[in-house]
Amino acid sequence: MKYEVIASTSTGEYYPVVASDESGSLTITCNCTKGKNGKICNHRLALASGTPKKAFNPNKAGNEKIEDVRSFVESFPAISVFRELNAELEVLEDRVKEIKRQMGMILN
Ligand SMILES: [Zn+2]
Repeated sequence: MKYEVIASTSTGEYYPVVASDESGSLTITCNCTKGKNGKICNHRLALASGTPKKAFNPNKAGNEKIEDVRSFVESFPAISVFRELNAELEVLEDRVKEIKRQMGMILN
């Protein structure tokens, strides 16, 4: 399978992002400056983390299949683990924030 969707940026630029398993494993590539340099850009991260609405305008032509791409990417075990860990990280970050808030109250 191979999907191409269009990422948008706050500066109004558009970049094609391709998710594919044609090499035998999942690859997500992006044509933005950071992505072209092989770095994990926000667009690739948005697809991997399952929050594509942040980077992919559903009204942009080519993005009508964004939910299909999200499901496709989600079917890979590494992505499931990544999402589980991200969810745990969010919970931990919230707990740290709360503890810091409480410590602030104690110290004041
Ligand atoms: Zn990108």
